Amino acid sequence: MSKTAESVWNNCLAFIEDNISSQAYKTWFEPIKAVKLADCSLSIQVPSKFFYEWLEEHYVKILKVALTKELGKNAKLVYIIRMENTYGNKQPFTEKIPSANRSNLRSQEIDVPLKNKSPELKNPFVIPGIRNVKIESQLNPNYNFENFLEGESNRLARSAGLAVANKPGGTSFNPLLIFGGVGLGKTHLAHAIGVDIKDKYPEKTVLYISAEKFTQQYIESVTKNNRNDFIHFYQIIDVLIVDDIQLLSGKAGTQDVFFHIFNHLHQNGKQVILTSDKAPVDMIDIEQRLLSRFKWGLSAELNHPDYATRIAIIKSKLYRDGVDMPEEIIEFLANNIKTNIRELEGAIISLIAHSSFNKKEITIDLARKIVDNYVKHTKREVSIEYIQKVVSDYFQMDVSTLQSKTRKRHIVQARQLAMFFAKKLTKASLASIGSQIGQRDHATVLHACKTVDNLSSTDKQFRKYVEDLNKKLTL
Ligand code: ADP
Ligand code: MG
Repeated sequence: MSKTAESVWNNCLAFIEDNISSQAYKTWFEPIKAVKLADCSLSIQVPSKFFYEWLEEHYVKILKVALTKELGKNAKLVYIIRMENTYGNKQPFTEKIPSANRSNLRSQEIDVPLKNKSPELKNPFVIPGIRNVKIESQLNPNYNFENFLEGESNRLARSAGLAVANKPGGTSFNPLLIFGGVGLGKTHLAHAIGVDIKDKYPEKTVLYISAEKFTQQYIESVTKNNRNDFIHFYQIIDVLIVDDIQLLSGKAGTQDVFFHIFNHLHQNGKQVILTSDKAPVDMIDIEQRLLSRFKWGLSAELNHPDYATRIAIIKSKLYRDGVDMPEEIIEFLANNIKTNIRELEGAIISLIAHSSFNKKEITIDLARKIVDNYVKHTKREVSIEYIQKVVSDYFQMDVSTLQSKTRKRHIVQARQLAMFFAKKLTKASLASIGSQIGQRDHATVLHACKTVDNLSSTDKQFRKYVEDLNKKLTL
């Protein structure tokens, strides 16, 4: 039987599959097509230049071994880069692209002797002049390290941020993922790092962008047929800061494109800084391969500020605004607003405004009124214990039954509902929810959340349970 491009490649694949992780195999080898075999030279089609670079950098040895086995000593590999308006092996939005765009389909042949060096390669995708265009960093200079007060709650994140700012791309904190609850300083710290880098390395291109805006831009690029320009714009950034990446959850297309941008930047020693309101293990509907990238670097948490830090933050705001406030009131504020620095600031501003507007002195009474307003507006958080009680009552069972190891369907459902509501209504992590609802692990809780989501969209009766319980729990 004579050899064909396909048969040769399939044999290579079988060998490669046995020798690398299945994740890597899926990502980097499944999307490849064998297209031509001439003498000892096999042409394979890869979906992007980035792909080709990645293969050359990481898999050239194994490719060489596999191909030599098949075609002998003179084996040669030719890459054909075929860039359609899709990336990798996924095809998000393809059907939306009008056929006129077919002419955009580019193909480039690169003849690569199987040597482990990156050959010079003309990049056909460089947007003319883009390197000369100054990219506005979108940084807010008011968010800097100087006014980001240090405390027990933020020490790790702050010092990791400083380390990254001193040597962007040159530490093992890449990516640096800053996570923590609302109003704890993620955005402030992310800007501070960017501002400091701009200060120390004015020639570096720094870009701050919210995940929301990134998503909008991406969708726009797809509708305008310039997805590649979008990707290449991001690939020339030296320091990319993406705020609130939890907003990418469930957006497969955006995650896919971000994955490729991330890999490119990371591989080229560029710094990536991310923020999220959840720890990586608690992120739902973020692709595994992206999550695993987040774990390459450092995840640093911003915790609730301790009392001393709250006092220091209040004093520094007052000092900046040139306002004097009795010690007693400062302590009152610090004692009553504990979990959100933004609210703490809001209360101070509101207090100052009231007193100057009404020409009143700042008194404890006024402070109490304002704090009441602030604390009332922030929803009371229900406890996981309370959720289990409400769910058990609703299904007329004991809490101990709900927590038990039984696999009886209605009990399992009740338990899953309790987990779902604990995730929805509290800030507890999946792991902590699991340990409080019958000693389960975080994967079980995640599974429960997905099951409840699915069932409530397919099962009417079940949806009724969810609605009833939701009312009981949020009233
Ligand atoms: P997040 O992005 O986590 O929701 P922000 O970064 O927007 O929170 O912070 C909320 C407010 O609290 C901002 O005005 C920020 O300046 C302030 N803040 C947070 N942490 C600190 C800190 N350590 N020192 C001073 N101000 C802080
Ligand atoms: Mg923020």
